[in-house]
Amino acid sequence: MHSDTFARYAASNVPRYTSYPTAPAFSPEVGEDAYRTWLASLDGGADASVYIHVPFCRAMCLYCGCHTTVTRREEPVERYLAALALEIDLVRAATPAPPRIGHLHFGGGSPTLIPPVRMIELVAQLRRCFGFAPDAEIAIEVDPRTLTEEMASALGTCGFTRASIGVQSFDPIVQRAIRRVQSFETTATAVRWLRGAGIERVNVDLIYGLPHQTVSACAETVEQSLEVRPDRFAVFGYAHVPDFKPHQRKLDPASLPDFAARLEQAAAIGEALRRAGYLEIGLDHFARPDDPLAEALRTGTLRRNFQGYTTDTAETLIGLGASSISRTKQGFVQNAVLISEYLKHVAKGRLPVARGYALTEEDTIRAAIIERIMCHRRVDLAGECARFGWDPDRVTDQDAIDTLVADGLVRKCGSVIEVTEPAHSLVRWVAAAFDGQLAHHRQRYSRAV
Ligand code: SF4
Repeated sequence: MHSDTFARYAASNVPRYTSYPTAPAFSPEVGEDAYRTWLASLDGGADASVYIHVPFCRAMCLYCGCHTTVTRREEPVERYLAALALEIDLVRAATPAPPRIGHLHFGGGSPTLIPPVRMIELVAQLRRCFGFAPDAEIAIEVDPRTLTEEMASALGTCGFTRASIGVQSFDPIVQRAIRRVQSFETTATAVRWLRGAGIERVNVDLIYGLPHQTVSACAETVEQSLEVRPDRFAVFGYAHVPDFKPHQRKLDPASLPDFAARLEQAAAIGEALRRAGYLEIGLDHFARPDDPLAEALRTGTLRRNFQGYTTDTAETLIGLGASSISRTKQGFVQNAVLISEYLKHVAKGRLPVARGYALTEEDTIRAAIIERIMCHRRVDLAGECARFGWDPDRVTDQDAIDTLVADGLVRKCGSVIEVTEPAHSLVRWVAAAFDGQLAHHRQRYSRAV
């Protein structure tokens, strides 16, 4: 592929496709009533996943793209936990029988700043309200700077099985620029506490494209991270979107690596991880060959959801907490993003839904095609469409595919479309060819690489 062609695609805005349709398509017209109807239609004992959002941090990292707020006090966290407990009861009351939870994920924000005793109570309530699969994965995002040994032990008591450790970069110059100072020793201690508490599986999250970041600093961060023997890495490019995240305005744009430097950094991280024996999973994950994610890639069962790549195959996702997104086979709903709004709804006994999206059959087919491309970089259009009794021509923009073929991003063999190796990092663009709504929402996304 010509480098100009690559650059032209990579500089464009396309979604990361952790869902289809993506969140900008959600509307206030789909709200609590729709969600109640969808929950009421769940089969008793149906497989489901639960995501719990904890939107609090002790300080704001300047690169942050998450829904979070800064608090030094315990009272807002306690008030929020009380609302979460109410919301769990509301959701349980809206379902005909307890769904069976195969995956439970705590994200944020910094969920590890929940007081340990409250975390034990919260997980106990979830176990009372929902059935748990015996091999359920219970995962949490961990900020090593605020994790305590007591909290690590509480997580072990609750039965957590996986922890995602936020690292981003160990370079002190980068850390000072992004206001996230976290030594290797702090990180290694957190991992030691977690493993000591029985949480064996550890992920490490890294970012490239941060202020002052260099290729050698990226490689060194990987080398240091390997010392804690992670099972998985998630590697993201920093998304500079100061119009949506005003705290990012404090970063000096001149200190951000340019496009060519970002590419080199991503390549250096990928190379170092492959050399260390990790397998590349989809767009931005790496896993040990014996990790379930690598197994899912081998067996063609890899999935993609709001947390990225996953082994989670449940059709239903119950999102709890401010800004959380839920999914059923009928559609998506998102909870109120503002904590104050979320608290108000729950206090009135309402499911705190702010907006949503009811799926059409066409959306479901497009979603299946896009997920296959994002996970496996290839899709059999006839095979995917046959599951729904649809003709592939109804969801295929032939001109767009021909352009991708001519530009060297994909090769076509019968009804199979496969992303070429030089275009692996442009997989989002191939998926975008099947997005029926992209034209309306394009300005909302960060660049592809
Ligand atoms: S700890 Fe994570 S969620 Fe909190 S401000 Fe930093 S990057 Fe954002």
